[in-house]
Amino acid sequence: MKLKVLYGNSKWRFNLALNGKCDAVNVRVLGSYGSRIPGHQTSCLLVNDNVVVDAGGITAMLSVAEQVAIDHVLISHAHLDHVYDLAFLADNVMAQRRSPLCVWAPEEVLTTLRENLFNDKIWPDLTQVSIGGFPVMEFCPLPAGQKTQVGDLLVEWAPTNHTVFAVGYLLSRGETSILFSGDTTTTDAIWTLGNRARGLAALFVETSFPDRMEPLALATGHLTPSLLQKELVKLDKPDLPVKIFHMKPQYLAEICNELELFQGRCQVLEGNESFCF
Ligand SMILES: [Zn+2]
Ligand SMILES: [Zn+2]
Repeated sequence: MKLKVLYGNSKWRFNLALNGKCDAVNVRVLGSYGSRIPGHQTSCLLVNDNVVVDAGGITAMLSVAEQVAIDHVLISHAHLDHVYDLAFLADNVMAQRRSPLCVWAPEEVLTTLRENLFNDKIWPDLTQVSIGGFPVMEFCPLPAGQKTQVGDLLVEWAPTNHTVFAVGYLLSRGETSILFSGDTTTTDAIWTLGNRARGLAALFVETSFPDRMEPLALATGHLTPSLLQKELVKLDKPDLPVKIFHMKPQYLAEICNELELFQGRCQVLEGNESFCF
């Protein structure tokens, strides 16, 4: 498969030349939209091949062998576009894994998943199904206010402003980190987290609706290009690359046009991009 590789900074150009691969934070975009139409997958980043952030486009984008290699799934919130592929990922890999698939999120999110998805009604409770002497899936709560080791990443979260309990994540490895907003409208804590991050290399942030739909964006806990522009002022890193995701696909052209106002900084993710940070 041919991948478009974009380099975050000069350190990465050096590392890529030296090692032939990324050795800090490698991101592949598996899904970048806020809904599904043909060829458009919902929010999902594959990080360093074995960690996924939000469970949107996993099974549509990865081979079964690549799915088996995923050890950890971080969930920003329990909305369906961010969690549905947990069900199919677990189903695809359960007989081939050698350890449980770890699902990481704050306890509020895990409780919602337990009660409303993996409840033996919508889908089996795969934390109670063992194959090979271990459960298919393990729910791993992420405590507030501290760093947790997830694979080879250190993970911190901050609450965002959405219609349900939702968080954004700061993912760090060595001296490099990236900030992922999840779903949010105007907010503060995630920007505070980004401002105190060391080696922040990129922001992945949602922008769901065009400006003319701001009332709907605010009512559903999302951003528009103009709202995003005001949010970015809160992040004390004016040159930070900004990767845009969670566009509602039917408004993609309109959102892209409006983002062109500050496009030197922003890149709209179309899916399947790869980045070395
Ligand atoms: Zn969403
Ligand atoms: Zn949502």
